[in-house]
Amino acid sequence: MKKILVTGGAGFIGSHLCERLLNDGNEVICLDNYSSGSKDNIKHLLDNPYFELVRHDVTMPFSIEVDEIYNLACPASPIQYQCNPINTIKTSVMGAINMLELAKNTNAKILQASTSEVYGDPEVHPQPENYWGNVNPIGARSCYDEGKRCAESLFVNYHKQNNVRIKIIRIFNTYGPNMHPNDGRVVSNFIVQALQDKPITIYGDGSQTRSFQYVDDLVEGMIRMMNTHDEVTGPVNIGNPGEFTILELAQKVIELTGSKSKIEFHELPEDDPMQRKPDITKASELLNGWKPKIQLEEGLVNTIDYFRKLVL
Ligand code: NAD
Ligand code: UDP
Repeated sequence: MKKILVTGGAGFIGSHLCERLLNDGNEVICLDNYSSGSKDNIKHLLDNPYFELVRHDVTMPFSIEVDEIYNLACPASPIQYQCNPINTIKTSVMGAINMLELAKNTNAKILQASTSEVYGDPEVHPQPENYWGNVNPIGARSCYDEGKRCAESLFVNYHKQNNVRIKIIRIFNTYGPNMHPNDGRVVSNFIVQALQDKPITIYGDGSQTRSFQYVDDLVEGMIRMMNTHDEVTGPVNIGNPGEFTILELAQKVIELTGSKSKIEFHELPEDDPMQRKPDITKASELLNGWKPKIQLEEGLVNTIDYFRKLVL
């Protein structure tokens, strides 16, 4: 039985990861400050004697004996991470330092939940891991993008200088149950709006693209990455290469919910990337043929079911 720390474990992705790690027979410590996550996401795990909950902020040092650390603590929705940008930078950077120090002191393996946002508004399409990206260092998204880029640098340098066993994954837009209904990201916004027959808010003309990955595929990829040999440090893209315009997503959500919602166009936020699609060649080579299994329609149906129970 491994002892595994999941920071940000009460968040959307973290809650799915905690559940899967427990089901696989591990002992799980979930650390969270509940800033964008919720105890509701993990309350069904609280009766499990191998699950522990710790309220803590990763910007402060933390000490525990563990075998593995998944570092997910960080707001992920643009609306959430831009509302206190300094705190977002501190969470990414100081959180990475504190968790890397913990990994160094306990000889734990540590995985960083990095992001496709390190590619910024990409000029290379699809995005392979060796593309350095196109990020505005002083724009509205920089607190997140540069915070995550700095965290990657910290990971690589703790590995080189201190032999810490690191794994970096770059996660592309992921959706599924346990997203917060007011989180502000596109899939949850559209589903909640559609279920309430409220206008669907498209930012810009809806021609920008994203590649949407269902959360179970991501969790499988994360665990496979953690279990690779020590030489495999990443970064490795984990995402679903199926690419859709935001307008197509809106139409699909309206169709699958049977909603009467109309589409409403709003101003495009600053520095909103125009296109995004992962090159997953590396993930497939390094992670035992990993590839996403759940395509958009099936994943949306599951997510709509979840929100229907929550919202209506
Ligand atoms: P989320 O907001 O649901 O989860 C983040 C969790 O971290 C929340 O529970 C929050 O309370 C916690 N947290 C935030 N700041 C903290 C702090 N200072 N100390 C302790 N806990 C803190 O977001 P998510 O979608 O589950 O994202 C999880 C991770 O995956 C993030 O690091 C995010 O950057 C990364 N990621 C997610 C996506 C995606 O599409 N969902 C894409 C790329 C990367
Ligand atoms: N978006 C939108 N309407 C919404 C929320 C988001 O049109 O209600 C757009 C947003 O401008 C972006 C895309 O959907 O182009 C994905 O946004 P999200 O916040 O989910 O994630 P991002 O990939 O931008 O980090």
